[in-house]
Amino acid sequence: MISGQKRILLVEDETGLVLTLTDRLSSEGYAVTHAGDGEKGEKLASEGHFDVILLDVMLPKKNGFDIIRDLRKRGVTTPVLMLTARGQLNEKVVGLKLGADDYLTKPFETLELLARIESLLRRHAPVIIPILELASYSFGLFKIDFIKMEIKRKGKLIELSAREFLLLRYFIEHRGSVLSRETILNDVWGYDAMPTTRTIDTHITWLRQKLEENPKFPKYILTVHGFGYKFVG
Ligand code: CA
Repeated sequence: MISGQKRILLVEDETGLVLTLTDRLSSEGYAVTHAGDGEKGEKLASEGHFDVILLDVMLPKKNGFDIIRDLRKRGVTTPVLMLTARGQLNEKVVGLKLGADDYLTKPFETLELLARIESLLRRHAPVIIPILELASYSFGLFKIDFIKMEIKRKGKLIELSAREFLLLRYFIEHRGSVLSRETILNDVWGYDAMPTTRTIDTHITWLRQKLEENPKFPKYILTVHGFGYKFVG
């Protein structure tokens, strides 16, 4: 396998569709693994490391709904695109409720499938440190306990608002990366929130006052002029 190549698990029992999709996805540069029944599909999905799973609903041995439900229960978070039958609105709703990330109704255009796969890959681009594994983090004189949501400087507790804490956690997860104000806004405040990019600047100022020795010359939360911010620490 080429390094950086994305891996797709295709759980589908229609031979014709399997051949067409495997050919096309491979020619697009994906590494495709195929399972022709539900049990094999679930086993591979649980054990293998895939970037996207394409999951049919009607499958021999175990159906797609049961598979997605059991995968999510076991903590498998791989993005799943369900391939549902035509006009079965119920299938879409049920699939999404059980934890699927997207669905596509058969028959579909291959181009549409490719676009959906790319979108899932973008949405699920791995963060630098998965937050669940990050129980604590230290930088400079600071130690952060993510479980208690506490930050201490030389053992002394520092008061951060919930939003400041989330913002700091987000910086740490993406440390070393240049983050635009828009990205920070979307990821920390959410798409539904209505703050402006000024809100971010204000919060950064507050955070700097609490963390930086000299907030005018920050050494942890750096400004990337005309773009956004970068955390180093
Ligand atoms: Ca089928």
